[in-house]
Parts: sequence; C-alpha cells; structure tokens
Amino acid sequence: MRRRLIAGNWKMNGSRESLAELDGIAAAAQARPDVDVAICPPFTLIERAVARQSGLAIGGQDCHSAARGAHTGCISAAMLVEAGATLTIVGHSERRSAQHETDAEVKGKAEAAIAAGLTAIVCVGETETQRDAGEAARVVEAQLRGSLPVAGGDALVVGYEPVWAIGTGRTPTVEDVGNMHGLIRTTLRDLLGAERSGAIRILYGGSVTAANAAELLAIADVDGALVGGASLTAAAFVPIIGVAG
Ligand code: PEP
Repeated sequence: MRRRLIAGNWKMNGSRESLAELDGIAAAAQARPDVDVAICPPFTLIERAVARQSGLAIGGQDCHSAARGAHTGCISAAMLVEAGATLTIVGHSERRSAQHETDAEVKGKAEAAIAAGLTAIVCVGETETQRDAGEAARVVEAQLRGSLPVAGGDALVVGYEPVWAIGTGRTPTVEDVGNMHGLIRTTLRDLLGAERSGAIRILYGGSVTAANAAELLAIADVDGALVGGASLTAAAFVPIIGVAG
C-alpha cells in the first residue's frame, strides 16, 4: 500500500509572513500520520520553512541538471539539499511551456535530484488542444518515457497535471483521471519493472480543492495530490489533507 502524498506548490507566491500558514498545515499533517505532506515554497523561503521544524517535508519547485557552473538564475539539487529540502518538483508544465524545458532536460533534472538525495516529483500532462484531438494518452506516455529516470533509486513521484486544469477550476472527469492514472501505472511498470514501479506514487494535480479532493483521491491509482492555489493557506489546504487518508 502506497502512502498518500499531498504536496503544495506555492509557485512564485508567498513571503516570510506566509510561512505562518505552515503551522496550521503541520497540525493537520500531525493529525494524519498515515499521509505525507509537503510544501514547495519559493527557493528563498526554503531555509526558513525548514527552520520552523514543522515536520512537513519542504521541497523546491525546480533544480538544474548540472551540479554547478555558469547557469545564471538556476539552482542545483545539492543547493536544495543544503537548504534542507527533501524533494523537488521538476518538469512542471509552467516550466515546460515558459522555459521551453524538454523531456530530456526534465529527465536530467530528475536524475540530478535523485542523485543528490531528493525525491523528484516529475510532472506530465496534456494541453487542452491535445486532449480535444484525442492525443492525451499518447502525449502523457511520451512525456513519461522521455522524462523519467530509468536508473537510480526509487525516490520518484509522478505528478499528472492536465495543463488545462491548472488554475482554471476545471478538472477531468473521474473516468478520465482513472484512465490516465491507469496508463501511467502501466507505463511505469513497463519502464521500471513491477517491483520498483509498484512503490512509485502518482499524484493528480490541477484545481484540486476541498470541494473535489475526496472524489479525486478515491480514484484507483491516485496516490495523492499536487496542489497549487489551494496550498497557499492552511484554511484551503487542511481539508485536502483531512480527506487524504
Ligand atoms: C499546479 O500548478 O501544480 C497546480 C496543481 O495548480 P492549481 O492547483 O492551482 O491548479
């Protein structure tokens, strides 16, 4: 049985004051010892978030594939580890689109993260145009095959985030989520073998809120949620943790 993981992605939001939200989130996490809870704040807040000793896992939102060097504005996996992070998101659709990140680059980032001792949450997901064209399954499978590290440890999580569901208040049907998570599980088995793939959690992300979390988390092969907007406050995030067990 895979432990549920509820991970919050603060994106480019939050300030030192926002870290007070972690106290309420941590209290909810303590009340659900069967669920892993993580928050990925902006890089500048990671060290302070870790220093609060909330018991929450603190993560980055990206890392570079290289260990060091002339990469202005970037951050290495080892730097995240030094700041106290234990995981990082890679391949978020906002980076695939705005920073033109390719599957090969995302794979390099995931490999670097795992080699540094982090858990890598590798995001995949189709655009609305691709879904309307009946291409969603093909696109997501290709992203998985191109982005997932096939060697290395098991510190891997997949985030399925349909691009058109992110920040829009729209979600796929229960049937569509179930079909996609089933496809992801089958592809993981093919890529990594039955034993290793069986331990890898598949998160659903895209407009998860207190109102829809229970329904989404009840779907087969949905092992947790990656939450953007509703992770910014304890008031919005705590109910999602509450239904995750
Ligand atoms: C995200 O961007 O990872 C995300 C899931 O955002 P939201 O929950 O706001 O749709």
